[in-house]
Amino acid sequence: MIKRVLVTGGAGFLGSHLCERLVKAKQDVICVDNFFTSQKSNIEHLLPEPNFELIRHDITEPLMLEVDEIFNLACPAAPGHYQYNPIKTTKTSVMGAINMLGLAKRTGARIFHASTSEVYGDPDIHPQPETYRGNVNPIGPRACYDEGKRAAETLFFDYHRQNKVQIKVVRIFNTYGPRMHPFDGRVVSNFIRQALCGEPLTIYGDGSQTRSFCYVDDLINGFLSMMESSEDITGPINLGNPGEFTIRQLAEKVIAISGEDVQINVARELPQDDPLQRQPDITLARTLLDWEPTIPLDTGLARTIEWMRSVDISSFRAPTPNY
Ligand code: NAD
Ligand code: UDP
Repeated sequence: MIKRVLVTGGAGFLGSHLCERLVKAKQDVICVDNFFTSQKSNIEHLLPEPNFELIRHDITEPLMLEVDEIFNLACPAAPGHYQYNPIKTTKTSVMGAINMLGLAKRTGARIFHASTSEVYGDPDIHPQPETYRGNVNPIGPRACYDEGKRAAETLFFDYHRQNKVQIKVVRIFNTYGPRMHPFDGRVVSNFIRQALCGEPLTIYGDGSQTRSFCYVDDLINGFLSMMESSEDITGPINLGNPGEFTIRQLAEKVIAISGEDVQINVARELPQDDPLQRQPDITLARTLLDWEPTIPLDTGLARTIEWMRSVDISSFRAPTPNY
């Protein structure tokens, strides 16, 4: 059956990959985006497709549509982007969730929400299972994003309990791949852009902090499995690659795989509230969704480097000065 599927944030990094998969699966796809952190080039190739439609819209405003499924991804995700206008970031998470949940309630659509590992803050339990309630500083520079996402989760579960809305909440851990904004300030995009431009790779702090990096294709498989899972599976479910690396190891890999002759620069301090470690416990995703990532970091980095080499970096509008 062809479904009418709304993807908010559909022109972004993850959203564009999701739209692509849904268009290929012959669904009737509506992409909604305000282009705050993305550009049309991400979805340009989808525009001629008869089952793809683009609406420029800000999800902090109500939206009247008739849909069967909603993937709610709209929100700036890179620290530099979400800290650029922190009040707007919280509004997008919270008012955006209310508007999209209202749409789901009116139409009876099933709604998926892109939450984040940031709900765990700087975790003191490692790796992080979904039962861990987190260690978030509610007044720090990351709070607009972390607390916005936590409040959105609350709204999803209250709409589910109070209004019987069918919800699907996933907590995404650091994901990378082609179409990441080269100037978004995230560590993978920064390191690859710097290496390709012959600049030193900027490690913040001493580089011993860890992250777990998931390749985008693996993550999108997880999104689709979650949306298709039985109604009783509401989440939250962690989606990420459990392979854990220090930021220094990542820098060394980018240099080795790109083959560029660049140095590592460790002059900058660790940003405030920057989590020291992060690794998903994906037992629940393995058990309930039969999902796990398959693409190793080296392979994913090689693909991402190849992609960034193939684009004109200067054609990307840097939405914030944080890079
Ligand atoms: P992205 O910045 O590339 O995409 C976000 C998209 O949302 C952009 O196209 C942006 O223009 C759009 N947007 C922002 N505010 C909007 C608004 N008010 N109305 C309409 N559109 C708006 O980021 P991404 O990495 O693709 O992240 C997508 C989602 O996944 C986000 O909700 C993010 O919090 C979540 N997430 C991503 C990661 C990751 O590692 N990529 C990790 C955890 C969670
Ligand atoms: N980081 C870094 N150099 C950079 C960009 C980021 O060392 O040029 C570090 C950052 O301080 C953090 C980690 O890399 O410890 C991941 O940062 P990112 O912004 O990608 O995502 P986060 O997981 O912090 O949201």
